[in-house]
Amino acid sequence: MQSLVLERKNELSLRDFPIEKQETLGPRDVRIKLHTVGICGSDVHYYTHGRVGPFVVEDPMILGHEASGTVIEVGSEVTTLAEGDRVCMEPGVPDPNSRATRMGMYNVDPAVRFWATPPVHGILRPTCIHPEAFTFKLPDAVSFAEAAMVEPLAVGVHAATKARVKPGDTALVIGAGPIGLVTALAALAAGCARVYVADLDQAKLEIAAALHAAIHPIDVTRDDPARVIRAATDDWGCELVFEASGAPKAAAGVFEPLCPGGAVVMIGGQADPVAYDAGAAMVREARVENIFRYAHVFPRCVAMLASGAIDVKPLITRTFDFSESVAAFDLAASAPSGDVKMQIELPQ
Ligand code: ZN
Repeated sequence: MQSLVLERKNELSLRDFPIEKQETLGPRDVRIKLHTVGICGSDVHYYTHGRVGPFVVEDPMILGHEASGTVIEVGSEVTTLAEGDRVCMEPGVPDPNSRATRMGMYNVDPAVRFWATPPVHGILRPTCIHPEAFTFKLPDAVSFAEAAMVEPLAVGVHAATKARVKPGDTALVIGAGPIGLVTALAALAAGCARVYVADLDQAKLEIAAALHAAIHPIDVTRDDPARVIRAATDDWGCELVFEASGAPKAAAGVFEPLCPGGAVVMIGGQADPVAYDAGAAMVREARVENIFRYAHVFPRCVAMLASGAIDVKPLITRTFDFSESVAAFDLAASAPSGDVKMQIELPQ
């Protein structure tokens, strides 16, 4: 069976890739048959640019890191999973003995091995081996498609956690892409009374507004988010600003809509240093949090999908058969305005 291989920048192929033969099942590992894989902005960026920040594709690499599947074999010491279990997987596996891991910040362990980040292969392939500790059993209520959304959702839940959302907070999320929208949903689930979502893509704003009655779209081609927030809060500002666009201009203005004592969470990656309005941050005594991926949130995400506290189904706007993977990536690279998350289903 085939894998989706990024041969080099701008060249993808579906071909046999004998990676399974190089992997051995450890006593605390499980073997998983992949079912659904989401296409992430980072996968697309590797395809179109051959690199993401310092990570450069030097050799052919299998893409994909947002995945669900079925356990088909378990190692001799595995106790929490069994053959036939439906699961989703956390794609970054740290060194268990590293200093960052022992401090509980395993996501910033410099030695973390993360799927589809060179030189580590991703999982757009028939099967993979993964540690039991980073593999999470799905309740019946969570579909494979929803489970493949747990990875991006984890970013939003981690952001809401670091924001320390309080019941009744007002939040502004800048960016209505997949990460912005899961952040809006996570902020609401964490207790926000209302969440404003700012973007310049009208179709994405419509999807955002349809997600929840407490989500209010702001079209930045017509309105200034800071002005809208001030008008909606008696000139006080909002308690939380989540920067999920990665746009330098948006990052430079994050303190404008923020109320005194509020918090900014930086989520969107920035390729270059951005302006930071230290004066605006100071007069508000603003708290600034940064997040890098996530830690300790996959089980929470699965629980919220199972209970209905968060519904990610409206974010899945297109599903492709594995045989159409290259066309799916070409479409994703064109960033069509009405699409949020595209997924690929592997043959079962
Ligand atoms: Zn992703």
